[in-house]
Amino acid sequence: MKVPLLDLKKQYQLIRQDILRITEDIYDSQYFILGPHVETLEKQVAQYCHAAYTTGVSSGTDALIIALMASGITAGDIVITTPYTFFATAGSISRVGARPCFVDINPETYNISPDGILSAIARLSPAERTRLKAIVPVHLYGQCADMFPILDIAREYRLMVIEDAAQAIGSEYKGRRAGEMGDFGCFSFFPSKNLGAFGDGGMVTTQSKSAHDTLVMLRNHGSHPKYYHRLIGGNFRLDALQAAIVSVKMTYLDQWTQMRQEHAATYRSLFSLYGLEERVVLPVERENRHTFNQYIIRVADKRDELRAFLQESEIGNEVYYPVPLHLQECFSFLGYQQGDFPEAERAAHQTLAIPVYPELTEEQQEYVVDRIRFFMQK
Ligand SMILES: *Cc1c(COP(=O)(O)O)cnc(C)c1O
Repeated sequence: MKVPLLDLKKQYQLIRQDILRITEDIYDSQYFILGPHVETLEKQVAQYCHAAYTTGVSSGTDALIIALMASGITAGDIVITTPYTFFATAGSISRVGARPCFVDINPETYNISPDGILSAIARLSPAERTRLKAIVPVHLYGQCADMFPILDIAREYRLMVIEDAAQAIGSEYKGRRAGEMGDFGCFSFFPSKNLGAFGDGGMVTTQSKSAHDTLVMLRNHGSHPKYYHRLIGGNFRLDALQAAIVSVKMTYLDQWTQMRQEHAATYRSLFSLYGLEERVVLPVERENRHTFNQYIIRVADKRDELRAFLQESEIGNEVYYPVPLHLQECFSFLGYQQGDFPEAERAAHQTLAIPVYPELTEEQQEYVVDRIRFFMQK
């Protein structure tokens, strides 16, 4: 049996007619950049994410960059974030000239540790303290970071909070949605996210009218009115085609999320049926709505052997992420060393993503768990 990590072709069969109809309208109109389809999607995402304002942008990475720019973060500033995330989180901080200050994760949720944030702030010199401007928590794999303590710290130290919600559309923390809690929420429509475009796209949420006005300006080279540039922005615009496609998919999102959650429950019962919960650590659902962008298992050793074995068994899998960001070559100038963030480093060696996409069947899940059981018995 073949089990891919993600099967977007199956999803496309369901939405094909709607997509073809809406994109044909755009071809006929020859109106490709921003416009009514982007505005429609912005309204849909605002409502879905409980945000007062939304700004469609060119990618999740650009959502982070433009949110950092709108937060006034510039060269020499310091921004706290996690080393255990996709590169774009810290890459964007660097791209606006700021320095990422990494803080280790909670090993249960893989999200940034609020206590770790406090210790990191305590270690900054008074001069560094004045350059500390923001925290970028990441809601990794579809589960929200521990936001209330993070928001408390931000209030105390007057820091902006930019949620990296690229993997977490619809995720909730104590009844509040990802992207609703911080000053900004950054979403990605990369095809492998829970709500994916047919290419790149992203969205920024905010509750602030003035922040939204700045985002809209920055998105289009900082101009307002046209050809009068108040700010140095960039081209962060969202395409009408991508917005229209995401708009169609939006109506299925809750259904797809529910299927992901059901698959997670099925994995849990299958792994415990075989008495494997000890040796295969399953995702801990701390927060009320985990949207399972990824289903992550953790094994104490032989992760790479398990990976190779699953590969041979034609079961899709991936390591998110093999090298924590503080050990990436491009960040060596930051001066971090092996051992600085032991939980992030351990997670990088022990975790493995297995298929959890909505269209996955029960037979496929049984096969995945059966093969893992076979490997564990060897
Ligand atoms: C995917 C992702 C991004 C970047 O989104 P793109 O749309 O690919 O630019 C940023 N942060 C995290 C955590 C992501 O998973």
